[in-house]
Amino acid sequence: MNSGLDTQPISGPYPILRELGSLQRMIGEHQAKILGHKKRVEMIQATRQEKSAELAEKKALQKTKLLEIRRHENALAQSEENLGRAKGHSNEADATRQVESIEKEMLFLGQQISQLEEQTFKLIGESDILLVEIKEIEQYLTGSEKALKEVGHEVDSLIEADQLEIKNLEERFTEKLSELNAEFKNAFLHVVKKFGKGKPLAWFEEQRCDCCRFLIDRQTGIELSHGIHPHFCPGCGRLLVVR
Ligand SMILES: [Zn+2]
Repeated sequence: MNSGLDTQPISGPYPILRELGSLQRMIGEHQAKILGHKKRVEMIQATRQEKSAELAEKKALQKTKLLEIRRHENALAQSEENLGRAKGHSNEADATRQVESIEKEMLFLGQQISQLEEQTFKLIGESDILLVEIKEIEQYLTGSEKALKEVGHEVDSLIEADQLEIKNLEERFTEKLSELNAEFKNAFLHVVKKFGKGKPLAWFEEQRCDCCRFLIDRQTGIELSHGIHPHFCPGCGRLLVVR
């Protein structure tokens, strides 16, 4: 369409710039969507990591509880054995003092046994709670692994679709860009680079930039309406486009 001279296609530079602007916006939207898709997977992965760490912690704690239970049970068995022995002695004892001493020991052992039984019972309860929690986390991890696979597949195809859209839009973008003369092309690429993902174009309306409301001087306004040279808004630096 462009002869390479400073002539514009019949429609002038503004429709092309407007289309380029909207193509660029659409490309940005698809890029944002891709990030959103990736975020879905990342969130599941992050929760899974958190839960796995929690699982390891609870398993270690449960192991400690089991060791404690074992220790208490051994102590309990020992105390019971001691009590049994003391009972045997008490049957054989005849001196009052000896009987008193044995009874004292039996009382102590009896208290020790009930204390150990109570502690063991408490530990078993704690261990049981941990086992339930461990099972719950394991079930969650199994379920979320499945979900992760499913979401992963879904996200992959969504990303692929968005990437294809971006590719098509970029092709149209390149095509449209080639319809601009060098001066407008450079001006457009300049603002695209300058504003990154932001809006590179601003409408020239009622003698003002619609983005920052900067009042454009009359001479520039006339030149703008002819669309011969590109003009940047002195206020915000965007490329001015006549609607
Ligand atoms: Zn402006």
